[in-house]
Amino acid sequence: MKVAVASFEFEGNSLSLGVARREDFVRLGMFEGDDIYRAVAGKQLSLSGALDTLTEAGAEILPVFMARCVPGGHVEDEFYEEALAKITDGIAAAMPVDGVYLALHGAMICATEKDPEGAILSAVREKLGRADIPMAVSLDLHAHVTERMADTAQIIVGYETYPHVDVYRTGACAASLLVRAIKDEIRPVTRIRKYNAIVPVLGGATLNDEPMAQVAALSRAIEASGRALSVSYFPVQPWLDMADVGITGLAISDGDPSQAEAVAQEVLDAIWDRRYDFELPAMTPREAVEAAVVADGRTLIIDAPDSMGAGAQGDSPALLAALVRHAPDIESAVFIVDPETAALAQEIGIGGTGDFLIGAKQDSRWFEPVQVTATVTHICDGQFTYSGGPASGIQNSTGPTAILRAGGIRIMVGSYSIYEHLDEHYAACGIDIATCRITSFKNLMNYRKLLGPGVQYIPLYGPGAAPLRLQHVEWQNRVRPFWPADDMSLPMPAPKSAVSDRKIEHQ
Ligand SMILES: [Zn+2]
Repeated sequence: MKVAVASFEFEGNSLSLGVARREDFVRLGMFEGDDIYRAVAGKQLSLSGALDTLTEAGAEILPVFMARCVPGGHVEDEFYEEALAKITDGIAAAMPVDGVYLALHGAMICATEKDPEGAILSAVREKLGRADIPMAVSLDLHAHVTERMADTAQIIVGYETYPHVDVYRTGACAASLLVRAIKDEIRPVTRIRKYNAIVPVLGGATLNDEPMAQVAALSRAIEASGRALSVSYFPVQPWLDMADVGITGLAISDGDPSQAEAVAQEVLDAIWDRRYDFELPAMTPREAVEAAVVADGRTLIIDAPDSMGAGAQGDSPALLAALVRHAPDIESAVFIVDPETAALAQEIGIGGTGDFLIGAKQDSRWFEPVQVTATVTHICDGQFTYSGGPASGIQNSTGPTAILRAGGIRIMVGSYSIYEHLDEHYAACGIDIATCRITSFKNLMNYRKLLGPGVQYIPLYGPGAAPLRLQHVEWQNRVRPFWPADDMSLPMPAPKSAVSDRKIEHQ
């Protein structure tokens, strides 16, 4: 049993100006061949779960390529082509193989290719030369699954949880279905159903009895009933400006396409039926700061429109401006990506004071930089290690970083945007958020792990690359009517992808 494995993970955002280049992938870890084992061993990545499962099954594993990057706008063409060639050349060199496992995110955007993951799967299928060699793919819960992907891979499995705590398990699950398919124990067939609808990410937790938790429970019940080998649901990364992006139900059946379609439809309808429940209350930066000042205990202010986890660049100073104006003496911490200011602070040095213009430099469409007179209290290289979540045990860095203090406000100015898990990045720079009445986060879900007695959260709404109100975005490519821009009592199927004609023909 010979299985080739590769991963190429990136979450795009059509509204973000960020471009992911080769060096951004290299910074987070790009590996080939046996180095991949060392990179993922003991980690919580989907590739870790898949490799452990394939090893246990006694498969001969051919690790081909692995590259990951923090979410952003889009991947530059040059690197996408390079990664695609590494994957397809590696698989061609490994031939003949009995199966392929790919760890993808599913919401990649490229400058040119409109269906990046679909194109990867098609290119791999072409190298395999046969439609019946099983391919298994694991995806993020926010994946944009295209018809071409479902037509090309027999097995597609998405994360079941948000916050994503089952990434390892997802890779293991996809790999174990792959092993069973290679052994001819099952004949997996994947089908998707999709509506022309997008829903806010902030309300998409699978915690407690929240809407997506109910969809998850339904999906697990269907699996337990034996009606499907695997059921996935994709509330989708909504800031993808493409006609065929929409909430998606997915099912894998054992050799029965119409059964898979029926289950996918049932799960899709379960998301649609809850479409009103995803929108959470939110405030403007000023309202949030004023509410935090009078609140007992600590407040996490969630700068949702500038969420780095959703692909925004992390350089919005909107909350900083509100703190400077309405709570200058309250102990608070904010993180802002601003390499220029970080460099200036490092030049001034610890103990020095300067006038800084902070933020709105990567993306100046919505805000002006905020002028602050502050003292440099800390400088460092921004290195930190994730304490949990999908990146558990993996190092990341905010790059050259400085802490500036202005009254009660500590401004952590970094050079790179990051995926925030908990407060690891703050702690690495000496900021103990337990001492802050207000702490800013630029992620849409992981902050919920920091809540508890005496700790509340307030999400912000407003302009940015990840705005909460999806109906107010000036979409270029979405087709009307779509939810939530149009009042729809009945769902509409999502338009077919413009690239579906590029789908390869199976023999
Ligand atoms: Zn996700």
